[in-house]
Parts: sequence; structure tokens; C-alpha cells
Amino acid sequence: MSSGSVCKVQIPNKLKLFVLYMKRISIDLKAVKAAVSLERLLGYYGFKSKMQPTRNGSSLVGPCPIHPGDSGNVFKVTLSRNRWVCHNHACRCRGNQLDFVAVMEKCDTHEAALKIDRWFSLGLAGKVTSKSVLQRI
Ligand SMILES: [Zn+2]
Repeated sequence: MSSGSVCKVQIPNKLKLFVLYMKRISIDLKAVKAAVSLERLLGYYGFKSKMQPTRNGSSLVGPCPIHPGDSGNVFKVTLSRNRWVCHNHACRCRGNQLDFVAVMEKCDTHEAALKIDRWFSLGLAGKVTSKSVLQRI
């Protein structure tokens, strides 16, 4: 995470988080996850074509897009749950749609949500009220 060193003055963590939230465009992370599946994101990056469905069709496996060069099927996506995991022992990362884009774009999940919003023209950015932002902290 990148934002820890922004504030030099000692202020309570919640307030620090709130200040960071208010400086950025608000976005409902849950709404972004509900709007764009992990499968669609894999398609956006051009990875879906490199992956194979598992026998029952519930998952995709393929080389890990996060650490290129490792062939095989270390990267697994559970389609219905929008979860991914890399079984390479050096990589060992996992997560949901936002985590995936955050790793790929080297940003945090908030930035990732804003990117997805832009890529897929979701129109979700800036729609969260300050009240619901506060509730999430
Ligand atoms: Zn990996």
C-alpha cells in the first residue's frame, strides 16, 4: 500500500483515511465488482485466450499474467466467485477483480476501481455520498 506516508502530522488513523478518501474521487468498490466480472477483465487484458477451462468449466487455468515467463497452469480463476490465485511459490498472490487490476497496474484497489470504471464506462466514479464513504472506514 502506498498511502501511509502522506500525512506527516500524527492524526488518528480513521481521520487520515478519511482525508485520503476525500482527496480522491469516490467510487463504490462493491458496485464495480458487481458490474465487471473477472472473466471480462481477463478478456480486457487479452489473457482469457491464453487460459484453458477446467473439466467442469467452473474455472480457468493458465500461465500467471502477473509474473510472466512461467508457463503452465499456475494461475487459476474461479469464474463464479470472481476469485483468482497464483500457485507459483514466488508469486503467491490472490484476490478479486480489484486486486487483480491493482497488481497489474501497480496501484491500490481504489485506483483500480476508478480504472475499471473508465475502461468499461460504468459511470460509477464520484457517485458515492460522503456518508457511505464514512460508513466504510
Ligand atoms: Zn504469479
